[in-house]
Amino acid sequence: MTDRIADVWGARTPYAAGAAWPTRVDQFLLPGVEERDLEWVQSACVLCSNGCGMDVAVHDGRIVGVRGRAGDRVNHGRLGPKGLFGWQANASADRLTRPLVRRDGRLEPASWDEAMSLVVGRTRELLAERGPLSLGFYGSGQLFLEDYYTLAVLVRAGLGTPHLDGNTRLCTATSDAALKETFGTDGDPGSLRDFDECDTIFAVGHNIAETHTVLWMRILDRLHGPDRPRLVVVDPRRTKVAREADVHLPIRSGTNLALLNGIQHELIANGWLDRGFVQARTVGFEKLEQVVRTYPPEKVAAICDVPAEDIREAARIIGTAGRLVSTCLQGVYQSHQATASACQVNNVNLLRGMIGKPGCTVFQMNGQPTAQNTRETGADGDLAGMRNWQNPAHVEELARIWNVDPLQIPTWAPPTHVMQMFRHAEEGSIRFLWIIGTNPAVSLPELHRIRSILRQERLFVVVSDAFLSETAMLADVVLPTALWGEKTGTYTNHDRTVHLSEQVVEPPGQARPDMEILLDYAERLGLQDKDGAALLTWRTPEECFDAFREMTRGRPCDYSGLSYAKLRGSSGIQWPCNDEHPEGAERLYTDHRFNTATDVCEDYGHDLLTGAAFERRDHAALQAGGRAILKAAHYVLPTELPSPEYPFQLTTGRTVYHWHTRTKTGRAPQLQRAAPDAWVEISPADAERLGIEEGDLVRVESPRGRVEARARLSGVREGIVFVPFHFGYWDAGEAAEPDGTSRAANELTISAWDPVSKQPLFKTAAVSVSKVADGTGVAPAPTTAAAEPVDGGDVPRTAGGGGLRETVEGRP
Ligand code: SF4
Repeated sequence: MTDRIADVWGARTPYAAGAAWPTRVDQFLLPGVEERDLEWVQSACVLCSNGCGMDVAVHDGRIVGVRGRAGDRVNHGRLGPKGLFGWQANASADRLTRPLVRRDGRLEPASWDEAMSLVVGRTRELLAERGPLSLGFYGSGQLFLEDYYTLAVLVRAGLGTPHLDGNTRLCTATSDAALKETFGTDGDPGSLRDFDECDTIFAVGHNIAETHTVLWMRILDRLHGPDRPRLVVVDPRRTKVAREADVHLPIRSGTNLALLNGIQHELIANGWLDRGFVQARTVGFEKLEQVVRTYPPEKVAAICDVPAEDIREAARIIGTAGRLVSTCLQGVYQSHQATASACQVNNVNLLRGMIGKPGCTVFQMNGQPTAQNTRETGADGDLAGMRNWQNPAHVEELARIWNVDPLQIPTWAPPTHVMQMFRHAEEGSIRFLWIIGTNPAVSLPELHRIRSILRQERLFVVVSDAFLSETAMLADVVLPTALWGEKTGTYTNHDRTVHLSEQVVEPPGQARPDMEILLDYAERLGLQDKDGAALLTWRTPEECFDAFREMTRGRPCDYSGLSYAKLRGSSGIQWPCNDEHPEGAERLYTDHRFNTATDVCEDYGHDLLTGAAFERRDHAALQAGGRAILKAAHYVLPTELPSPEYPFQLTTGRTVYHWHTRTKTGRAPQLQRAAPDAWVEISPADAERLGIEEGDLVRVESPRGRVEARARLSGVREGIVFVPFHFGYWDAGEAAEPDGTSRAANELTISAWDPVSKQPLFKTAAVSVSKVADGTGVAPAPTTAAAEPVDGGDVPRTAGGGGLRETVEGRP
């Protein structure tokens, strides 16, 4: 039996360019479960934005296993460790089964009626005393489309507050922003099949192996196939992706923009351009050329601290590619100048004319499984259906659909991003904060500040969650929610593939689906449309989906041809799905007409350097009219630089075995055993200077806080330390506690964000590192991926995920 904790990506199934990726069905059943006793029910994994199709095994009213769907267009049967094992959290003994309310400082069980009466009562008081600006809502990237759409309509059209954001702000706000800046509207243009067709991959700040594990299986199978694509990787850590690269550029953190300008310098200087495409289908080339002209390789090498020859070689590979897929993720999105850098990744493909055709695309990747849906429904800072906040015609259209006065929709101020919402709460203008399916007491920057805001007497905090998270512990009311598998709904991955996930078991105790809780809230508040009818017209997830798909009719994310009936039995359908594309559309912009007409676009754009928002006349002056927009910006230094006191740069990130703050993966035994505690990665050269050895206890300190964890000497570049952000305090016992000896990486990070996407910075905080005590063993870091020790001699290999079946089609 394969151990898929030890062998994360499983057996190779090599294939050639243009061939179909072979099927391999991965399956895990709990020990003792017999296949003949099972019912298999259609679903999809909800632990990253790859959105792998899976079937859920049900026996006796319990989930007892999962298997990949062989015919699914996304994963061809495969699942990664999180998909295989993460679902076990559903059956965790510490699930919340009853509402809790704070009485005399303690959270105590209450009835739903008591809890909801408190929530509704406080909402009513604040609406009467202070108006809708006193209310804030902070959601997730892990709910379902139906939960989000209910939340968005309730908050925007019902309560009329601009204070609604999702934790997608932390992972994909830049993806959304960069797509809008370049192509006019959100939505990744390509297909995962482009990885089957390409001959070159350019991965910038994207540890595909750990963040999109099944996509990495697909790429590995190409890399080990007959006509291996070339691979250029930008990452300060020696990830598994970097180890496979033809050129690895381990740049200094915070220098993405300089590097990308340098690569474009080389593309232009060497004539590696599709001039006809650039002239006919883009605007902005002259300005771009002017900017990147000042980034020759030697200058860029000095900024990024990588050899100029490697920059030239990377540009040569990209410049001579026949079919190029570029991709980026948090290394770009969570750095300063995030949107500016992400736009340059778009530019690279546009300069090469490589978009909208097989093997040629750019992926502004998502992180969270349902992040795409927060954006499409408007449950973050976007307006539902990829409409433009600044365009009165778009707002009026939405008001017509929702049957409310357009003035009810708060377009008089920019939507409030989460960092600003916490600022409003800190200053006292927000007095009610409902946090849904997310854990800001571990995931937001500068945690001592976040905790102090949530602890304020004057702030009424409501938390909807399946577990008593670090955030829920600080709430006034906690509402127990149903998880994946306990409710029906849909979600959309990063190549626009929509899956239906069926309810297979009942939620525990009195836990309820988020959509149902929000409908209850709206009903108790008596939210109405302008004719006095109930604002929210649906009672079931399917009715909600039907309302949503009508709202998207004619928009770029057109779901009008989709239905539960059509999704049931299918294995993923891409939007747009409508009369023109009844089975979905594999790629956007195949005619090279982009959504950049001023009346069509979702956003009028920004100055990438300052974040200043453009107005309609600024956008119209570009005369883009369906052509892609090449945007340019000069590199500037990061917000916080290393100093004699804080000489290192901190980068935070994920491991392949965990998801976000481990509320689910920390309760799956195989995953928790594989990565049981925080660690600090440091380069061997830095470790030697500081007298640190594998397993020593080290302290990482920033002006905002400190973390103590065991050291792993890994392939991270000199001058940088890496700390995974998953670990908080709910299961830390006495080993770690907030405001004391801490282990959450975000104790160290800074309250600062990209000026355009407002995505917080998690990659460039200045820190010091010191040894606290000799080690008594090895660091609790996995040996299987980027945290692999440089000298693995005495470090036991991570293992422990046996009992798994892996079947390659056509082989016994
Ligand atoms: S790659 Fe993502 S969606 Fe697929 S199984 Fe792994 S965690 Fe789930």
